[in-house]
Amino acid sequence: MVLTGIGYDSHRFAAGRPLILGGVEIPHDQGLAGHSDADVLTHAIIDALLGAAGLGDIGRHFPDTDPRYAGADSLQLLSTVAELLAGRDLRIAHVDATVIIERPRLADHRDGMREALAGALRVEAGRVNVKATTGEGMGFVGRGEGAAALAVATLERA
Ligand code: MG
Repeated sequence: MVLTGIGYDSHRFAAGRPLILGGVEIPHDQGLAGHSDADVLTHAIIDALLGAAGLGDIGRHFPDTDPRYAGADSLQLLSTVAELLAGRDLRIAHVDATVIIERPRLADHRDGMREALAGALRVEAGRVNVKATTGEGMGFVGRGEGAAALAVATLERA
């Protein structure tokens, strides 16, 4: 059986924070604000995987009111989700994601993000695809207020 799930997340930019996307720290003059490391891309992927598995959402598994997840490494949370799926005989067939961010340009970091995400999921890099686009100056992304991410996950039940 093939299962699919979607994920979406957004975070606001804030000064004095590192910009972490797909587990990679990307040089920029500001980062994203959040209870965890605010890795918007990894959060969207976590929601897509949980959605495909019918296991609710990221807030249910890793509540942002829980002090254990303050400053959490989202890649670690992604690994935890991968273990959860493996324990239910669900295999990750593919993950596709898009980061929507005005600046910085992510082209030079796509492969690094892909490898970091695939490593956390314990799948080959070819099963993970990361894309990036801008808001063309429109909306909260275009105004540089924050960044968003979309993801689709495809699982196979063994
Ligand atoms: Mg989030």
